[in-house]
Amino acid sequence: MTRYGFVGLGIMGNAMATNLLKAGFQVTVWNRNPSRCDSLAALGAQVAESPRETAAASDVTFAMLSDPAASLEVCFGSEGVLRGIRPGCGYIESSTIDAATSRSISEAVKKQGGRYLEAPVSGSKKPAEDGALIFLAAGDESLYQETAAAFDAMGKKHLFLGEVGQGARMKLVINMILGGMMATFCEGLALGEKSGLDGGLILEILDAGAAANPMFRVKGAPMLKGEFPASFPLKHMQKDMHLALACGDELGLPLHCTATANEIYKQARAAGSEDEDFSAIFQVIKQR
Ligand code: NAP
Repeated sequence: MTRYGFVGLGIMGNAMATNLLKAGFQVTVWNRNPSRCDSLAALGAQVAESPRETAAASDVTFAMLSDPAASLEVCFGSEGVLRGIRPGCGYIESSTIDAATSRSISEAVKKQGGRYLEAPVSGSKKPAEDGALIFLAAGDESLYQETAAAFDAMGKKHLFLGEVGQGARMKLVINMILGGMMATFCEGLALGEKSGLDGGLILEILDAGAAANPMFRVKGAPMLKGEFPASFPLKHMQKDMHLALACGDELGLPLHCTATANEIYKQARAAGSEDEDFSAIFQVIKQR
């Protein structure tokens, strides 16, 4: 049976590795802050001292890290994954990163004789816990095929999108849309409440019509109460808006709405909300 490694045990990585263990796989884990390995060790995971040691103990290693800088450090660092990858072994980057970063990791892994797949995910904390993520894979198709059982343990759907970079770009497309939707939702709620409409009633009416969607349904009620527990941290959404804009720059495509929404996320980060859920932009919008 394939031995899996998992580096990066934050909100998403912890839930994903938990589901691998629950499906009966042998899993070796590593996290920069080692206390985040405890719950997984209790489920039977081996705890490694470094990304290098994780990759060396595994046939296929997943990464679920904050941003491109973290992905590069964990891969290329002196105790990084690259030092532990053996010929034929796989490295799967599930972090949301840009295509260029993913390509540089891919090239390095292949140079070591390893196989690389990017597989960012659609879905947040709850889908990660429920094993209901959607994997957007691109890169080595043989690795994609061989990893199907692990994708099934962590997700409800997995797709192969072709060359490295296409999964990363698809993920940015999703998040720039979600980020823009959230900004418009917040402005609508703020305008409605300032007009004297009841917040709960606004949500009920939105949910009955063409604007209805699962994100508004789940996040709307806590937002009205001023509650923003992090499912998807605001700092990560701003990172993704920035990466989508950079992709637009690369391709010469103007992205007016995304650029405006990005400024709102930047303002909320500066106001100290970066570790709250991305719906916390509601606070800065209400204060206008
Ligand atoms: P998170 O809770 O903030 O976890 C981030 C992880 O990255 C932690 O394990 C953290 O380690 C690690 N890390 C950060 N910088 C590092 C470095 N320089 N070296 C080593 N490790 C480092 O984030 P998350 O919500 O799980 O998200 C992880 C990735 O998935 C991000 O790319 C995010 O955009 C994406 N994503 C998130 C969601 C979501 O809803 N949360 C959904 C889809 C995709 P420490 O514990 O030591 O800080």
